[in-house]
Amino acid sequence: MDRCDALIVGGGPAGSTCARDLVRAGLDVVVLDKQAFPRDKTCAGWITPAVVAELELDTADYAKSRVFQPISGFRTGAIGGRSITLGYPSPVSFGIRRREFDEFLLSRCGARLLLGERIDSLERTDEGWLVNGRIATRLLVGAGGHFCPVARHLGSSKGSETVVAAQEVEFHLSETQRDHCRVNPAVPELYFCGDLAGYAWCFRKGDYLNVGLGREDNTRLSEHVAKFREWMIERGRIPRDTPERFHGHAYILYGHAPRPPCADAALLIGDAAGLAYSQSGEGIRPAVESAIMAAQVIVAAKADYCRANLEPYAQKLRARFGKPHPASGASAWLPAPIRNALSSHLLASPWFTRHVVMNRWFLHAGQSALGA
Ligand SMILES: Cc1cc2nc3c(=O)[nH]c(=O)nc-3n(C[C@H](O)[C@H](O)[C@H](O)COP(=O)(O)OP(=O)(O)OC[C@H]3O[C@@H](n4cnc5c(N)ncnc54)[C@H](O)[C@@H]3O)c2cc1C
Repeated sequence: MDRCDALIVGGGPAGSTCARDLVRAGLDVVVLDKQAFPRDKTCAGWITPAVVAELELDTADYAKSRVFQPISGFRTGAIGGRSITLGYPSPVSFGIRRREFDEFLLSRCGARLLLGERIDSLERTDEGWLVNGRIATRLLVGAGGHFCPVARHLGSSKGSETVVAAQEVEFHLSETQRDHCRVNPAVPELYFCGDLAGYAWCFRKGDYLNVGLGREDNTRLSEHVAKFREWMIERGRIPRDTPERFHGHAYILYGHAPRPPCADAALLIGDAAGLAYSQSGEGIRPAVESAIMAAQVIVAAKADYCRANLEPYAQKLRARFGKPHPASGASAWLPAPIRNALSSHLLASPWFTRHVVMNRWFLHAGQSALGA
């Protein structure tokens, strides 16, 4: 029988960040992931400066052998409409490849790694949990993303949750494709759906291009994606042979049927808890921040992981991200008819785009990094 203080299910940014902080506090931690790393993760790979600070990333060192693309502007508009370009005096975000980023974070976390192993069984015991019939742990941390088995075990119900459905493709640009790609690496392109129920992006990170579209309403998602791809090709922004096959994934925005983040001897962090920002869909920052807050509460519980001792984690989430509110998404802040009529008008306004869309919704300019 293998034993540990904490078993973390999922080695994405949430799992590796929590593991790192718990190992630093002296706990014996196991991270279990169904995939071997490096692994691909469907994601645009955009991180904000708060994430860099919270992860204590040495960016010069990181960038030596990995993609790390500074972003100092955005080209935005409504799909099918005109676009405007905004500039910033210094980098306001960065582009990474999840394949590299997640492996980097996981390999430095110091926990014991069990990779390529799925969760087959979770049993509650007097001391905590028995996982897959052979690992005894006092505490279980669910960091397995949207479909996390720990979240399911604690009662998340798939059918009743409103999810963002997204499709994305990331590929290495050949020399010819580079000549036919007009997306400036420092200026990613964001285009909003007319009903504001989602947006699409073209994001060039070094020699990689990432194209995708996500919507809160997943009906005819592939059609939206195909139309967007065609539109970008017609405008000469991306190469004609940009792959047609996109990869799909779903996740919950904070506020949509939130999952209870803690139970006796168990916590959920990151996408497993459904924490992505409602307006932008950014999920890496909430994954990292929830992991840091969870680790603080776990350490303070001093090995007594009863629900009452873990409840401060739920309070920290509310203090940081606000009270979940079902109508907090970008598509919900205006009634539908007004939304449709105004979207192209608003998105053509440089003031609205800079101050509301980018600074407030996407960059969270008013919210400092945790611990800053
Ligand atoms: C198309 C798309 C684009 C996005 N773009 C961005 C972006 O640009 N910036 C941003 O901040 N956010 C973005 N997001 C959201 C972001 O990807 C997630 O919020 C983030 O990955 C959450 O991190 P996590 O660690 O909670 O989960 P994940 O990164 O999903 O990691 C979960 C891990 O758990 C493992 N796992 C799952 N099930 C099991 C199991 N049964 N047993 C064992 N292991 C398991 C998985 O293999 C995985 O490694 C995007 C999402 C999508 C779908």
